[in-house]
Amino acid sequence: MASAHASAPSFFETVNIYFEKAAAFCDYPRGLLDQIKAPNSVYAVQFPVRRETGDYEVISGWRVHHSHHRTPVKGGIRYAPEVNEDEVKALAALMTYKCAIVDVPFGGAKGGVRIDTKKYSVEEIQHITRRYTAELIKKNFIGPGVDVPAPDYGTGPREMAWIADTYAAFHPGQIDALACVTGKPVTQGGIRGRVEATGRGIYFGLREACMQSDDMKALGLTTGLAGKRVVVQGLGNVGYHAAKFCQEAGCVIIALAERNGAVYRAQGLDVDAVAKHLHETGSILNFPGAENLVPTQAALELECDILIPAALENQITAENAPRITAKIIAEGANGPTTAEAEKILLAKRVLIIPDVYLNAGGVTVSYFEWVKNLSHVRFGRVGKRFEEGSFERIVSAMERATGHRISDEERRTIVHGADEIDLVNSGLEETMIGAYHQIREIRKAEARVPDLRTAAFISAVRKVAASYLELGVFP
Ligand code: NAD
Repeated sequence: MASAHASAPSFFETVNIYFEKAAAFCDYPRGLLDQIKAPNSVYAVQFPVRRETGDYEVISGWRVHHSHHRTPVKGGIRYAPEVNEDEVKALAALMTYKCAIVDVPFGGAKGGVRIDTKKYSVEEIQHITRRYTAELIKKNFIGPGVDVPAPDYGTGPREMAWIADTYAAFHPGQIDALACVTGKPVTQGGIRGRVEATGRGIYFGLREACMQSDDMKALGLTTGLAGKRVVVQGLGNVGYHAAKFCQEAGCVIIALAERNGAVYRAQGLDVDAVAKHLHETGSILNFPGAENLVPTQAALELECDILIPAALENQITAENAPRITAKIIAEGANGPTTAEAEKILLAKRVLIIPDVYLNAGGVTVSYFEWVKNLSHVRFGRVGKRFEEGSFERIVSAMERATGHRISDEERRTIVHGADEIDLVNSGLEETMIGAYHQIREIRKAEARVPDLRTAAFISAVRKVAASYLELGVFP
């Protein structure tokens, strides 16, 4: 399906434009590249839901497996009024490349249900979620070793709990049933740190990018995050957490944009206070001490150092790109920048940290959750006390050797065994930093690679191609 402008490429076509740009740097047979690009299975479903009014309604849903080169496949489920097959294919393809970039051992998938969640009661959303899950079960499009969904736009831990429960009801006694979906509440087999993982990952990636003094110098910026002026679009899961971690790191959040408008304050906004205001009043507008910006798109054009689009795709287009002054665009959302807009921004030497890398924190921690569900033990539970005992013995030996007793506070900091949240955040930080340098090195080592997105796609294409070449083609 084409996007708003008839001539503009669709979202899936845009992802493929990025793929081809990277493929030009790789020496693989055309057929192999075509196989990597092609969605392997596309499932479209229509099912009824009974409204509280007594009426029936037909709901459209999709699940796309983009690549079976590794299984299970993985990717979120989106609830949105405009979601369509092209969009789900694009998002599934991004998942394949994303997992490869951060070395998460899954193929890519995505799901979509075309509903405006605001128009349904919680009970109705539960019926839709359970019925959609049942449809996935019928066609073997969900399961711990087959396809493991997660939250995306319009869904969260609540929906994931319903999915897990529905799957378990259809598979009584299946010991690994909980691993059929990630992003569950911690009390339902979820993992600590998953809710904030995508935003925290964005922060780690952005921090790493801003630590590279030569890259910052080229942009006319100082090294480090502190003091950088940031605009965030979308104050949902991804945007809220990205904004919050950036604020904690010393960034000045000058504007936050939501659906119906944005708020701006040159001296900086307190992210939690704005989120509370949004929650309480139902609108981001009229936040005390801040200026309203309507239409909301105006926020994207504010003078700032870092722009974090964290709402939806196609937000930065050929139309507004010439007026965007941010030096860094940190893509929190999937597909926020169109291919035409990217050309304009790259010509202005903007550093675009691409979605396919930057928002991979969610799937990374989802991977940890899946591993936790399969191992049936919380990370840290087995080793924490043992580690603390070892640290205590080292501290005591040092005290005896030096005759100096450390303070209780110092002792508490040193004698600290890793708990689940420590290990999750550590694994996430390691993943985001490691992947950033892999991409940056491709860009630096190969002089013709023009930008980080192309470098990220090259990294992905190479890894997926290696997997196909090692396995051969069945039969
Ligand atoms: P969400 O539903 O929690 O939040 C999205 C927010 O964007 C909402 O508050 C919504 O009101 C706002 N919004 C919608 N249209 C807007 C507009 N035009 N201008 C400003 N704000 C607008 O969704 P999310 O999970 O935060 O996902 C956001 C994006 O991040 C999506 O592109 C999604 O695919 C991507 N993503 C999410 C995750 C995850 O773990 N949730 C992981 C990777 C990528």
